[in-house]
Amino acid sequence: MIKVIVNNIFLILLAGLIIPFSCSNHGGNLRLSTGEGHDTTISNLPSDTGESQNGSDFILWQLPCVIKNVHMSYVFKINNGQVAVLDGGWGADAKLIRDKLVALGDTVDAWFVSHPHEDHMGALNAVLEDPEGIRIKHIYYSRLTDDQIQAENHTISGQNNADSAFEYYHTLDTSSVLKTNFRQPGAIITLGQTHFKILSVSNPEIITNVYNNSSMAIRVWDDKKSFVFLGDLGIEGGDKLLNSPYKDDLNCDYLQMAHHGNHGVGSSFYRRLKFSACLWPTPEWLWNNNVGGGYNTGPYSTVLLRNFLRDTMGVTRNYVQWQGVSEIR
Ligand SMILES: [Zn+2]
Repeated sequence: MIKVIVNNIFLILLAGLIIPFSCSNHGGNLRLSTGEGHDTTISNLPSDTGESQNGSDFILWQLPCVIKNVHMSYVFKINNGQVAVLDGGWGADAKLIRDKLVALGDTVDAWFVSHPHEDHMGALNAVLEDPEGIRIKHIYYSRLTDDQIQAENHTISGQNNADSAFEYYHTLDTSSVLKTNFRQPGAIITLGQTHFKILSVSNPEIITNVYNNSSMAIRVWDDKKSFVFLGDLGIEGGDKLLNSPYKDDLNCDYLQMAHHGNHGVGSSFYRRLKFSACLWPTPEWLWNNNVGGGYNTGPYSTVLLRNFLRDTMGVTRNYVQWQGVSEIR
């Protein structure tokens, strides 16, 4: 998602704008942090770390981005007390997720990383370099080859993608945390009664949009609810997944919009699936495709996708990163 960042760096600087936000009822099992939905300070994270509801085995939190940019950060609490993370956001988001993890008991049983872009692995890299009491038991990822990493050997806003990825892998390699590098999809990790199934892994044969198309897609479910996370998958990676033995695993209750809802897998991918709600790891400027010229005047496809989901798919439940912490029980 690095391309988007460059065009919008000035918006980050303007990001002090706070719009009042009210808690919405999206059908019974979602609670948003009320009132200050945009405020990403720790005090507005949900303090209730208790049981999930309706017999479900886990709670999911979608965390906002401290620097009001694209990112992905999800935390799961299992009823048996175990904790899992998917991605975690930028290095700048490390304090936010660190404080959330401290509130849940300091230990992450399973940390999944979709792909090595900074807005997905930066926080994990920061926590590994300086744990500050956070204990990670197991990291699950699908490693890119050196050739794949070099495919994005370009510098944007002073940051070189390949350098960041190599540094992150070096941090992983020198860490004592147990790691599993998936080379094939299909593995299932179970915490309590909650299952995490790896639906896609690194795709070295795809030479366009290399990092994003190697996103690890993951299905998470128990007896009561199901999620599918697509990471930043693009058209090619999405097509491969749809034509894989795991295509039926893509139907779910809550589907994360690929690549922050902008030029990800595309509408033809979504049309093939059944889902009833969308998770958007998406900042406000991208959600509204507004880089300063007004609503839907920017170069992004998010509003097109929103309209397609509503008008063609009939899906109107959206949990959006910039609106604050989403909690789904
Ligand atoms: Zn990415």
